[in-house]
Amino acid sequence: MAALTRRNFLAGAALAASGAAATLAPEQVPAAAPFAGKQAAGVYRLKLGDYEVTTAYDGIWLEPLDAKLVANAPFGEVQKALADTFQPTDKLPLPFTPLIVNTGSRLVLIDTGTAGQVADSAGTFGANLVAAGIEPRAIDTILISHFHPDHIDGIRTKDGALVFPNAEICVPAPEWAYWMDDANLNAAPKSRRMFFLNARRIFQDIAKDVRKFSAGEELAPGIGAVAAYGHTPGHSVFAVRSAGAALLVLGDTLTNPYLFLRHPDWQANFDMDGALTVEIRKRLLDRAAAERILVHGYHFPFPALGHVTAIASGYDLVPLMWQPAL
Ligand SMILES: [Zn+2]
Repeated sequence: MAALTRRNFLAGAALAASGAAATLAPEQVPAAAPFAGKQAAGVYRLKLGDYEVTTAYDGIWLEPLDAKLVANAPFGEVQKALADTFQPTDKLPLPFTPLIVNTGSRLVLIDTGTAGQVADSAGTFGANLVAAGIEPRAIDTILISHFHPDHIDGIRTKDGALVFPNAEICVPAPEWAYWMDDANLNAAPKSRRMFFLNARRIFQDIAKDVRKFSAGEELAPGIGAVAAYGHTPGHSVFAVRSAGAALLVLGDTLTNPYLFLRHPDWQANFDMDGALTVEIRKRLLDRAAAERILVHGYHFPFPALGHVTAIASGYDLVPLMWQPAL
C-alpha cells in the first residue's frame, strides 16, 4: 500500500467524492440539507456502581490571557504550552461542566454552572439538565466546591430567583468563613472584592439554610468531602463511592488540563495560595493515577471525565470514551 501522506490523502478523498457523484443517478443525488446552526444537547451519563452519574454542559469561557496567568513560569512558556495543545495563545479556554449523582434515593448536584452570568458563551446548564430528564426542582442536594462565580452563580438567576428550590445547599465551612466575613471583604484587594459581593448576593438571604460542612463529612450516601484548600481557603473536592466503584470530583484542583496537568507545578494567578494548591494537586493526582480512579474536572473538555496517568513531566488526561450503553 502506498504511504499515506496528507497530500495523497486529500487527493484521494477528492477523487472518491467526484467519482461517487459521477456514478449517482440524478434522483440519488442527496438534497441540500439546511444548516443546523446550533449545537446539540451536551449531556453524558455513566453508571458508577449502583449510582447513575450525569454530566451536563454549561458552556465555555475564553478568559483573556493575562501575562501573569502563571506566577512561576515565563509567559512565553505558557503560550507555547497553549499553542502545542492547539489552544489559542491569547485566551484561556475554561469549559464548565457540573455533575449530578443519582444515588437511587437522592439527586445530588455538584457545582451549579453560571446561569449565563459569567460569559455569553456559557449558561446552557439549565437547558441541558432538562434535556437529561432532570427537573431543577428534583435536585435534593447541592454540593459547592468553592465560591468562585462559575461554581455558584447557577444557584440563582440574574433576577435573584433560586433555580433549585428544593435543594439543601452544602458549602465548605472554611469557604463560608472566609468569603462571608466583612473584615476579609474590607481588607481584600479591589480585584477580589467582586467575589465577596457575589457570594453575598447568592447566599446572604438563605444563610441560615445553608449547611456548612467540614472535610471528611459524608454529605449524601457514599459522597464525602475532601479538603483541597489552596485554590481558595475552603476549596473542597468530593469522593463518590458506590458498590466498589469510585469517582473523584476535582473541582478546581486544576483548571485547564493541558496547562496544569502537564505542568502541575504551575501556580495560576487565580490560585489564592499557589504553593498549597500545587501540593494538594499533586497529592490528589498521584492518588488518582496510582489507584486508577475515574476523575471529573469542572474545567475539563466535555464530558469532563477521564483518567489521569503519570508522565515524566507531570500528568496526562485520558478522556473517557463515549459509551452508548450504561
Ligand atoms: Zn472554576
